[in-house]
Amino acid sequence: MGFLFNSDAARGAVFRQIFARELPDLEFYHCSENIDPDKVRYLLTWNVPGDVSRYRSLEVLFSIGAGVDQFKPEIIPDHVKVVRMVEDGIIRMMQEYVVLGVLALHREMLAYREQQSRGVWQALTSSQATERRVGFLGLGMLAQAAIHRLKPFGFPLAAWSRRKVVEGVTCFHGEDQLAGFLMETDILVCLLPLTEQTRGILNARLFSFLPMGARLLHVGRGPQLDQTALIEALDGGRLAGAMLDVTDPEPLPEGHALWSHPKVMITPHIASVTQPHTAALSVIENIRRHRAGKNPIGLVDRTRGY
Ligand code: NDP
Repeated sequence: MGFLFNSDAARGAVFRQIFARELPDLEFYHCSENIDPDKVRYLLTWNVPGDVSRYRSLEVLFSIGAGVDQFKPEIIPDHVKVVRMVEDGIIRMMQEYVVLGVLALHREMLAYREQQSRGVWQALTSSQATERRVGFLGLGMLAQAAIHRLKPFGFPLAAWSRRKVVEGVTCFHGEDQLAGFLMETDILVCLLPLTEQTRGILNARLFSFLPMGARLLHVGRGPQLDQTALIEALDGGRLAGAMLDVTDPEPLPEGHALWSHPKVMITPHIASVTQPHTAALSVIENIRRHRAGKNPIGLVDRTRGY
């Protein structure tokens, strides 16, 4: 029985080396090789191959990314466990990016960039961190890790989730408490998984609850954002700036209004990227857990979709 790595050869080579050292009894296959599908017990991939059902021995399907929204759940056999990537590299990079984004929005970097493009030397008034309320949509693994890094700056911290409670964070739950959460948020960070419930959640109605001049840091998934509503909120002053690491589509088409919007900064979905050395170790740990009859870390609840 073996492990099939269905992604790029460079990361595959790192995985192969670490698997040989840590799990020498498990066969390792790369998707470029000719393999017997009946031997595949574990599969690591970004997209689910259309012919996944031919892996009749498959028990665990690992996503190479932190999300599983790119998977088509209907083609994954019911008994197969679906696991998202939980690894130190992703967590560390997201901590860096969220701190970078929150500080950039807090310290008016987008406005200064725009001023620079016009050759303007002009100090802008800025709130103190203790007066700038940072609110997270989603309070999962990545939001909690980012909050941990933001704490020393003194921002008042809040988060909205289905039911999570974290000490030191003002927690809001469910539809009923969304508006109240937004009314007290100056910098909104979206770290929600993409599901049917969160698709299009960053829309005109949601923006209308934010204080005038609020800011958005979007690091979830592109289809969560209504891009037209964002442009209206920026142009109408509801939002003072937005940093987007994800868009829909990726990349945006040439000439799209967001590319050149003076209050928008776009990065090409690089907030956090799976790092092969740490990811291999976390997948190995999950295979060991699975073999011992325990649930893998990052097991997806297939009815919730995250
Ligand atoms: P988790 O599964 O650990 O956390 C998800 C959080 O979202 C939970 O707090 C959950 O609430 C909350 N949530 C989900 N659905 C709803 C809903 N309908 N209403 C309210 N709250 C909801 O995910 P991670 O923190 O690991 O990752 C979050 C997302 O970040 C990923 O799914 C991915 O899309 C994105 N990401 C982006 C990257 C980038 O480079 N831009 C890189 C990595 C990830 P509860 O806790 O109550 O269940």
